[in-house]
Amino acid sequence: AAKDRGGNSYRFFSAEMNTRAVERHELEEDMRQALTNGEFFLMYQPQVNTGTWKVVGVEALVRWNHPRKGVILPSRFIPVAEETGFISKLGRWVLEEACRQGAQWQHDGLPPLQMGVNLCARQFTHEEIVGTVSDVLQKTGLPSELLEIELTETMLMDSETAVSTLGQLKALGVRLAIDDFGTGYSSFNYLKHFPLDRIKIDQSFIRDIGQSRGNGAIIEAIVAVARSLGPEVLAEGVETEEQLRYLMSITCADIQGFYFSRPLLPDDVSRLIRESLPGFGTHHFTN
Ligand code: C2E
Ligand code: MG
Ligand code: MG
Ligand code: MG
Repeated sequence: AAKDRGGNSYRFFSAEMNTRAVERHELEEDMRQALTNGEFFLMYQPQVNTGTWKVVGVEALVRWNHPRKGVILPSRFIPVAEETGFISKLGRWVLEEACRQGAQWQHDGLPPLQMGVNLCARQFTHEEIVGTVSDVLQKTGLPSELLEIELTETMLMDSETAVSTLGQLKALGVRLAIDDFGTGYSSFNYLKHFPLDRIKIDQSFIRDIGQSRGNGAIIEAIVAVARSLGPEVLAEGVETEEQLRYLMSITCADIQGFYFSRPLLPDDVSRLIRESLPGFGTHHFTN
């Protein structure tokens, strides 16, 4: 009987593996066309300052509107794109589209908005990332100080290369942020050695606010160290009023999360920001 069970679970396991491999292969094939077919699009999640309640920036998040599967989230296709190397083309497209949109908002008269763009390890290490960023800024006209490049801790592990690349990116005038802070081989050393403008505290710490005391201690330590070393702090994945109150009580400057807003399409971002500007709409009531 034990042998039978073993046999069954083996068959089940390989069937599941097979399904997954098939899906990967399908996505891999479909991706080749998706960029030229215009199936990728960006959504933008607002980042809010808890002192002023102004939107200080947005993070660009890629989506794939697949013709048969519907809208697919990046966790499903970014790993495939990284494996096949397609991420180079896709990453370049994301950077350019985000900067183009950011420049458009400035042109439309919105207040300055930082534009956060995620880079993956492959883009950061294997390519002429500095040249690409420089080209894209020039081509789109986005002021360099409005571009914020998001990196993860693992990308900084080869610290000699990282110091050099980050230095060159800083020389272009862009902002540098470390994403998902606290999940990798975190080291407060990073904050000392790299020219970082912002730390984004990973949402796993925020999720557990009020449930586990240890997390509070970690968040408070990050905020305190950042305050003395310089980078701004943003809390990711803020979903509840309790989390917000706690973060405000320890004066964590910026938040991003469903509590304030989900990722939005460009028109909804402009609407949100225009509606929150002082004086917006008031003239309707003055005469
Ligand atoms: P990330 O950079 O940490 O982005 C934040 C993710 O958390 C987004 O998921 C966002 O929708 C989600 N999120 C925001 N607020 C909340 C909240 O309050 N609660 C919860 N549960 N989730 C929240 P998304 O868009 O699915 O992206 C997942 C990851 O995929 C991103 O994590 C990033 O690592 C990667 N990614 C997204 N766009 C790109 C891209 O253009 N290029 C690269 N290389 N990676 C990307
Ligand atoms: Mg990010
Ligand atoms: Mg993150
Ligand atoms: Mg993340």
